[in-house]
Amino acid sequence: MKPTYDIIIVGAGIVGSACAYECAKAGLTVLLIDRDAAGTGTTATGMGHVVMLDDSDIQVAFCNYARKLWMELAEEAQDQLEWEARGTLWVAADDEEMQHVRDKHTFYEKQNIRTHVLDAALLEQVEPNLRKGLCGGLRVVDDAVLYPPTATKYLVEQAVALGAETLFFSEVAEIRGDASVVLAEGKIIAGGLVINAAGCGSPELTEGIDVFKRKGHLVVTDRYPELINHQIIELGYLKAAHTMTGDSVAFNVQPRKDGKLLIGSSRQSTAQHKEVDHDILGRMLNRAFEYIPALRDVRAIRCWTGFRPATPDKLPLIGPSLVSEKIWLATGHEGLGITTALATGRIIADRILDRRSEIPTESFLPARCRKGGPVNG
Ligand SMILES: Cc1cc2nc3c(=O)[nH]c(=O)nc-3n(C[C@H](O)[C@H](O)[C@H](O)COP(=O)(O)OP(=O)(O)OC[C@H]3O[C@@H](n4cnc5c(N)ncnc54)[C@H](O)[C@@H]3O)c2cc1C
Repeated sequence: MKPTYDIIIVGAGIVGSACAYECAKAGLTVLLIDRDAAGTGTTATGMGHVVMLDDSDIQVAFCNYARKLWMELAEEAQDQLEWEARGTLWVAADDEEMQHVRDKHTFYEKQNIRTHVLDAALLEQVEPNLRKGLCGGLRVVDDAVLYPPTATKYLVEQAVALGAETLFFSEVAEIRGDASVVLAEGKIIAGGLVINAAGCGSPELTEGIDVFKRKGHLVVTDRYPELINHQIIELGYLKAAHTMTGDSVAFNVQPRKDGKLLIGSSRQSTAQHKEVDHDILGRMLNRAFEYIPALRDVRAIRCWTGFRPATPDKLPLIGPSLVSEKIWLATGHEGLGITTALATGRIIADRILDRRSEIPTESFLPARCRKGGPVNG
């Protein structure tokens, strides 16, 4: 079958849309398909924190590169992305966490990542609504917040302006090894390469990939533009994010551009249903109240759940799949898919065009893990 497109991308979440944008920018002909509208899957349920994390050297390089690409795009499209570079404030509750702050600062300094250490007095000055008695914090200067649905819409619009085509409200029933896709309605479309960017739906379309769902809860409040100035997170968040089994909560609050606050976060690896779990929601909110007592008095508007597409080694799958060299993956971004979407798109386009990527990309290759088999990292 003669390919109609160079690249067919299945899934128009923020990751698939970024792949469409970067591939179209690279001069490839692209079809972006989704069973729904763009950005309505996990992307619509996420927090939009563009954040530096440092689990591993490759994660640092990935987040740093990803943040840089967003910053460049924000220069031309700040309003469309609803971009605000407020920085992250990691809060230390005790001496041990304060030591962690200093260690992180030293580490980041060596990587030329801008951070400031705040002692207790300075912390109180920059965030007066935090509870008294905290030890201090680390301000990560270049972290930012964007609004994932509008950022995704912008990426799709840019891809289309560059010649990409979209096919929304069309379910893909099968991705075939010859780079064709079969729609649920029966139509077959041929590509030179298919990228499975279907997030939590990706394992249903490509055999043998270990992407599983990690449920999260979020609460959005009415407008309180004066309450906090940064995205504020407890250092214990990192421990919670690492817990792969069982349920965990951590204090993580984001000020949105419109003055609303997003309160998170929770992680559950076994819960598969969408309904709000009132026990974990209560635990999550109590954790937030412990850090910012004034949150007890704010008016919540809505709460919801979402599923992070996770992998066992906490790194995404980016590149050729194990089933066919014509089926590639861009999935498994867990809690970092908003941050790393653009970098994922760029890495995919680099690999297709045989360009050298700005960061090492071997750690993301799907060949590293086979469902049920050994995993590196
Ligand atoms: C509560 C919560 C908070 C988060 N906060 C942050 C944060 O602050 N910062 C951050 O970086 N990340 C965050 N994340 C993670 C981030 O939201 C995800 O990593 C990211 O949205 C994943 O994007 P995606 O495009 O891979 O998946 P999705 O957005 O789910 O996109 C996949 C798309 O594929 C489509 N699809 C699936 N199957 C098919 C099929 N068979 N046919 C056609 N289409 C199909 C779906 O409709 C969907 O639109 C958070 C996640 C949650 C749940």
